Amino acid sequence: MIFAGLQKTSLIDYPDRVATVLFTSGCNLRCPYCHNGELVHSYTGPFIEEDEVLETLLERKNYVDSVVVTGGEPTIHPDLPGFLARLKENGFNVKLDTNGFNPDTLRACLPFVDYIAMDVKTSTEKYTDLEASNIEPLTKSIKIIKTSGVDYEFRCTAVPGFVETETINEIGKLVKGAKRFVFQQFRPEKTLDPNYNGVKPHSEEYIRELGRVIGQCVDEIYYKI
Ligand code: SF4
Repeated sequence: MIFAGLQKTSLIDYPDRVATVLFTSGCNLRCPYCHNGELVHSYTGPFIEEDEVLETLLERKNYVDSVVVTGGEPTIHPDLPGFLARLKENGFNVKLDTNGFNPDTLRACLPFVDYIAMDVKTSTEKYTDLEASNIEPLTKSIKIIKTSGVDYEFRCTAVPGFVETETINEIGKLVKGAKRFVFQQFRPEKTLDPNYNGVKPHSEEYIRELGRVIGQCVDEIYYKI
């Protein structure tokens, strides 16, 4: 497997842990507000080989023993489960970030992950605006995660137009019965569609109001706003 980037230390990407973050390139969605446009659309390198990544992680394992694999979308890489298995063999705590559109690879990763953060971005209807033609993989992944026995969160960036009072009930239906839901604030910076750089984020009060709807559908709700 090859990686587009490695951030040696992060305090915010793995709940309650200090972690190294590995970035994969490419994605099967096109969210107009994506902050990783260069990783999603047109990344041509440089790449870091899997062995080199593992070597760096092992050199620093006494200080950082947790790893987040994020994107782009990691599950579009068929060799992802094999790489995660190597992380577990070497004693790392592993968190996987995913948009949920590749349930088969997600299922194959389950034995090798300790935590999954899956995006639930908007109502099923609005997913077409993210260039998802079929919502079935998403609902399948939600089921897989909920029944996996692996710790997890569903997370949602509160992007105006995608997360509103009109869509929040539908988002609630998607995650109904889930353990944990995390609302993140939208930051209009370096977005894939430059028009989103000018979009004013929702107020904290509005997001918390939406959160009250989701709170009735899940066990725990958190805010990063
Ligand atoms: S926000 Fe995530 S799922 Fe959407 S295009 Fe960017 S990397 Fe892909």
